[in-house]
Amino acid sequence: MHQHPAMKLSKRFRNALVEWYSQNKRDLPWRRTRSTYHIWLSEIMLQQTRVETVIPYYTRFLQRFPTIEALAKADLQEVLKMWEGLGYYSRVRNMHKAAKIITEEFSGRFPESFREILDLPGIGRYSAGAISSIALDQARPVLDGNVTRVLSRYFGIETDASTTAGKNEFWKLAEEIVPVENPGTYNQAIMELGALVCLPRNPNCRVCPLSTGCQAKRTDRQHELPVRKRRSASPHFNIGAGLVWKDDKLLITRRNEDGLLGGLWQFPGGKQEKGESILRCVQREIEEELGVKVLVRDHFMTVKHAYTHFRITLQIFNCQWSSGEPECKACTDYRWVDLEEIDDFPFPRANKRVVEKLLAAGG
Ligand code: SF4
Repeated sequence: MHQHPAMKLSKRFRNALVEWYSQNKRDLPWRRTRSTYHIWLSEIMLQQTRVETVIPYYTRFLQRFPTIEALAKADLQEVLKMWEGLGYYSRVRNMHKAAKIITEEFSGRFPESFREILDLPGIGRYSAGAISSIALDQARPVLDGNVTRVLSRYFGIETDASTTAGKNEFWKLAEEIVPVENPGTYNQAIMELGALVCLPRNPNCRVCPLSTGCQAKRTDRQHELPVRKRRSASPHFNIGAGLVWKDDKLLITRRNEDGLLGGLWQFPGGKQEKGESILRCVQREIEEELGVKVLVRDHFMTVKHAYTHFRITLQIFNCQWSSGEPECKACTDYRWVDLEEIDDFPFPRANKRVVEKLLAAGG
């Protein structure tokens, strides 16, 4: 079988990493357990979210849903509420679905076969590798941004990791290196080095356990690796939305379950069209979404928010309901709520800031 030229270096590489990890790893709650459920949850939360942000969510989530079965039994809305503010809500919708499958098809026990793990909703090659190596001691590789960076720099790999060919090359290398003995420790060690030492902008080569064999360090190319194509600026949208009041009640709507922020609640509104004023946009969007007419009053607040692939400026206006019974045309549910109960509903982050201001003003 063809061996990657880097293979002969890999033993030294692994040993240095694992040794460094045993002395420098952060004490994180999911590192004190071998429970597949806990490790699965941590891996899903840690995708796209920072460790410090994840810790309190992780703890609360497990208090509320201590077993896979408890998660499976819970109402999706309650599960979303526990995730509120973490973003990328498809992660938790998929976990909820997977928990049901595990309960129904695997009698509540997390599957141990790699294929079966990979078949669960929301679990890709990375998460399956992390869970099976860390919780189940299987020699499966992981590859995320941290791992790619360390491999690319240490072995001097110049392939763009965002291309299919690049992905295949990095996965192949990761697979060849992962050891049979303590694969989970090795995988966590390489990810930890990427998170703490081999940083994207300022790698701390001085304290790095890999510095003697590192190609990037030797040739002073730390800042050129890993190679990535330049990203174009993400598009920006202006969104107008309304706090639709009818006496003391406020109108909120629930988004379709598929798609970004699916299943969460929001204030009705939408994208401003070309040539349209923001006031007109609010009026039109509310009518299109719910079939009600409103009088747009004063500006309440502006929220800027960046998602992965686009940015929004959300402008919120106080509105007075004027006619029509709400009917969901572009949502799955709606409610007239009191301010006291509004915080029971899960909102995406930009809308949550509006809720906070409302509560501060009303309370
Ligand atoms: S020596 Fe520097 S560039 Fe090389 S792996 Fe270590 S921190 Fe990264």
